[in-house]
Amino acid sequence: MALIVQKYGGTSVGSVERIQAVAQRVYKTVQAGNSLVVVVSAMGKTTDGLVKLANEISPNPNRREMDMLLSTGEQVTIALLSMALQELGQSAISMTGAQVGIVTEAEYSRARILHIETTRLTRHINAGKVVVVAGFQGTSSAGEMEITTLGRGGSDTSAVAIAAALRADFCEIYTDVPGILTTDPRLVAEAQLMDAITCDEMLELASLGAKVLHPRAVEIARNYGVPLVVRSSWTDQPGTWVTSAKPQGRSLINLEIARPVDAVEFDTNQAKVALLRVPDKPGVAARLFGEISRQKVDVDLIIQSVHEGNSNDIAFTVTTPILKRAEAVATAIAPALRSQSNPKFDEAEVMVEHNIAKVSIAGAGMIGRPGVAAKMFATLAEAGVNIQMISTSEVKVSCVVDAAECNRAVLALRTAFEIEAGEQGAGIRGEFLTPNSSLLTPHSPPPVRGVALDLNQARLAIRQLPDRPGMAAKLFGLLAQHNISVDMIIQSQRCRVIDGVPRRDIAFTVSRIDGESAKKMLTQVAAELGWGEVVLDSAIAKVSIVGAGMVGQPGIAAKMFEALAQHQINIQMIATSEIKISCVVAQEQGVKALQAIHAAFELAGSEKFVVPA
Ligand code: ADP
Ligand code: ASP
Ligand code: MG
Repeated sequence: MALIVQKYGGTSVGSVERIQAVAQRVYKTVQAGNSLVVVVSAMGKTTDGLVKLANEISPNPNRREMDMLLSTGEQVTIALLSMALQELGQSAISMTGAQVGIVTEAEYSRARILHIETTRLTRHINAGKVVVVAGFQGTSSAGEMEITTLGRGGSDTSAVAIAAALRADFCEIYTDVPGILTTDPRLVAEAQLMDAITCDEMLELASLGAKVLHPRAVEIARNYGVPLVVRSSWTDQPGTWVTSAKPQGRSLINLEIARPVDAVEFDTNQAKVALLRVPDKPGVAARLFGEISRQKVDVDLIIQSVHEGNSNDIAFTVTTPILKRAEAVATAIAPALRSQSNPKFDEAEVMVEHNIAKVSIAGAGMIGRPGVAAKMFATLAEAGVNIQMISTSEVKVSCVVDAAECNRAVLALRTAFEIEAGEQGAGIRGEFLTPNSSLLTPHSPPPVRGVALDLNQARLAIRQLPDRPGMAAKLFGLLAQHNISVDMIIQSQRCRVIDGVPRRDIAFTVSRIDGESAKKMLTQVAAELGWGEVVLDSAIAKVSIVGAGMVGQPGIAAKMFEALAQHQINIQMIATSEIKISCVVAQEQGVKALQAIHAAFELAGSEKFVVPA
């Protein structure tokens, strides 16, 4: 007998018939000898309908009243589903977030869960009842109990948090697709179903638009080792398992806010090769990395940032033993990268740096929390460590620093994020948790698991940021203070001395809705902090490939860049982590880029996927 938490999304409970079908599935699961907590969303598009009503009354509705309004949607479903279960002779009880004791921060519309009371839940479960809980909602505990919501799509998060609190055997997310697909089926009909994906891979995909699972639900699953499966509520297909390595014991207090970083990693065995001033046109990255992969050189970080004029710098890191080979390839290819029509004398200059180290923070709590990266930069600044390159992803921030400063950097970061030496993060690959281990003996993962597109970002570039410790800390600290989340951060390679001060450009992406206000705020402080112009480009798209199997496999990046080049798509920025490569391209080319990359990695299935209406 197992204790299972099942969650049913809006479409799955979109009509009386659907609610009755869900009741049947719940009933059968109980008959098979299991105990059940069922978390539900509002019926169909109810939440969208409520938002629309509010907007008809006010363009900018009060956030408290908004949560009061939106939380009603789920309350309808819990009552109806309990009735449907009772009709089948199954005893059941509905409960709101407040009745369960889902305690959140006092933050309307995007509250994080602090704690879940299990007493009442357990009492009903032990009495043989199915407990039907309203997803997406909780109450604040400080002062007067206020109704809060967790953010759109948050019922997934409610379900996984309840599973963690109850130490349930597993959590099933029922939705309108048969599981997690290699990309959004609305954009690529040939998207294919995966049988499994790791939490880290899912996190890298999730906040990029694979909206099938709320990223915060994946964070909780990873941190607490909750076995999680995404399945269709229409069929009995097995669905997609989202797996995690066995985590270290973690307190259930401050469930969603404790310890956003769980590992500090470093690698002193790195060297950097940069190609400065290569033409900004389609195909350059493809040629460079195509040649590099033909020579079997495995690159680690790849960084390409924005520049004034029509040239780019591309930098990458390799392990020291293969530096000579990497440098030789870069030098050999450089002439071919120069503009053929009108080459300039300083184009495609190769620069090599030996004594560098990569220092990273990793963890599942960084998404949507701008303060975490800012704290890393501030910590390095206080330790007097200058950051040469930055590359970020959803679960990691990596900085390239001078090798001589690596020890100091690591010690400072461990202290700042309270990480014991030798402590390993939950994201490391290892034993996978699923209820039926025969299902998923860890096999070598494919190099590319999925492709994601994010069309909701804007890019900001700051020109001529003084190159000295503390500047990144100031910049990202300011953004964090204004609650602006930064996604991809890229610090460029090119360094210029102006007024006796070495300077670099830095570029990063933010949510498009934050673009204008971030630009205004950063322009206001430009003179005081000594940086130049702040440039905003809202017409961008970010396309990413993710896969734990790309580690140590040369040629994956080259293949992605080649797919873009073949479609004449120019790459504006590149950032990588161990398991992800992201490119920024022009917004109108985003969907085409996604489709080209999905096809290049042969991720398409043989059948066309039809998304239910
Ligand atoms: P629910 O209401 O059940 O929570 P959602 O609409 O939130 O369902 O999420 C399911 C939808 O996510 C699917 O209908 C699909 O259109 C979309 N989707 C986007 N990317 C993916 C992906 N990679 N795999 C599966 N579904 C995806
Ligand atoms: N009903 C909420 C929404 O539509 C929460 C959810 O369905 O997960 O966003
Ligand atoms: Mg959803």
